[in-house]
Amino acid sequence: MKQRYYQEEIETMPVSEIKKLQERKLQKQIRHVYEHVPYYRALMDAKGVKPEDIKCLEDIRKLPFLSKSDLRETYPYGMLAVPLADCVRIQSTSGTTGKRVIAYYTQHDVDLWEECCARAIVAVGGTKEDVVQVCYGYGLFTGGPGLNGGSHKVGSLTLPMSSGNTDRQIQFMMDLKATILCCTPSYAAYIGESLKDRGYKPEDNFLKAGIFGAEPWTEEMRRDIQASLGIKAYDIYGLTETSGPGVAFECSEQHGMHINEDHFYAEVIDPETGEVLPEGSKGELVFTSLDKEAFPLIRYRTRDICVLTREKCACGRTHIRMSKPMGRSDDMLIIRGVNVFPSQIETVLLNEGYAPNYRIEVDRVNNSDTLDVFVELLPEQFSDTVSGVTAMEKKLANAIKTILGINPTVHLVAPRSIERSEGKAVRVIDKRKLHD
Ligand code: ADP
Ligand code: ZN
Repeated sequence: MKQRYYQEEIETMPVSEIKKLQERKLQKQIRHVYEHVPYYRALMDAKGVKPEDIKCLEDIRKLPFLSKSDLRETYPYGMLAVPLADCVRIQSTSGTTGKRVIAYYTQHDVDLWEECCARAIVAVGGTKEDVVQVCYGYGLFTGGPGLNGGSHKVGSLTLPMSSGNTDRQIQFMMDLKATILCCTPSYAAYIGESLKDRGYKPEDNFLKAGIFGAEPWTEEMRRDIQASLGIKAYDIYGLTETSGPGVAFECSEQHGMHINEDHFYAEVIDPETGEVLPEGSKGELVFTSLDKEAFPLIRYRTRDICVLTREKCACGRTHIRMSKPMGRSDDMLIIRGVNVFPSQIETVLLNEGYAPNYRIEVDRVNNSDTLDVFVELLPEQFSDTVSGVTAMEKKLANAIKTILGINPTVHLVAPRSIERSEGKAVRVIDKRKLHD
């Protein structure tokens, strides 16, 4: 029978046992950090909490949070919990929201991370018979190395393509009959578009599944990618600080990502007050690593907004699921006093039949915020008359206004005029920040 889990015993462990395992690991992890990371010890001392005070999982609430600013402050070695000589690797964040952060790994940490990615590959149907094409960037970015390692562990033939050079991607994809594609969703959409340009139909490739993550993407985008590549598209989540992709991954149900709870303890908090919210509430995701050696992080605030659920999953996995992050708390734009997530605009565009090629520009003119949305016309719409295009712009603007409550200016632009992304797409330009 086909393998359904990479580590069945752990992935399907009864919840009560997972909790016991987490409790044991948490106590050990806190002692390790308290003893070896003076920066965090000082934070704990300031709150008057000692490792012995952590007796059960709920006691985690006594511990101080960490955020990206702590990691920047302690750059480069301040959070290291083992001698540098015990480390075998570093990786670094993409620097999407500022200075890069470095994470350190011992061999144990690399193995743990790769196992998480292997679980994700098996969850989408991957086996040693598969050909896994990894076109996440390799190097400091965690996407390439993480999925590469996971694919090795599963025993699949791994194509370490890295990002870019789309001609070569397509050549290898077809010649070597790749069956699983790993990249950012924006690059997957671009590969789909490029295959079509070269005259391939969705059923011409050998792909069956894709593992796409590292940036927010909507259900509408999933629908588009699945159609253009003729595959099932699965989400994967992670961040460098907690090791990389694979912290959570989607299963056959494509309905939320299972968090690898034997390695990460997840909480959702109110981002304003820091209060822990009950399961099912929307809030900021906070992670505590449970068995990392080099770069353990306790109550790390991800700034990603999501919802957790422990509802039973038909795949048989028992680990808690997180919803697709709806963007980072710092991705949220406040336009004329209204909270706007770029993903809300993406949903409207795709539902109105446009491709996911767009740019959002926000500015402030005469003390009033402006919202401009640039969207590509589809090739078949390009020959429309000027008045036809103006009417389409109005229709789209109205659809966006219905969702956001504020009026955008929509610009339909020529096909292929918006830059494609090979890694994480940059879709928002907030010019107000440039003026400050
Ligand atoms: P940076 O913070 O510089 O982008 P990383 O490369 O480590 O550094 O990216 C981690 C972040 O990427 C996460 O905190 C999250 O915001 C985003 N991310 C990763 N995977 C997903 C996903 N599947 N859906 C939405 N956002 C994601
Ligand atoms: Zn599941």
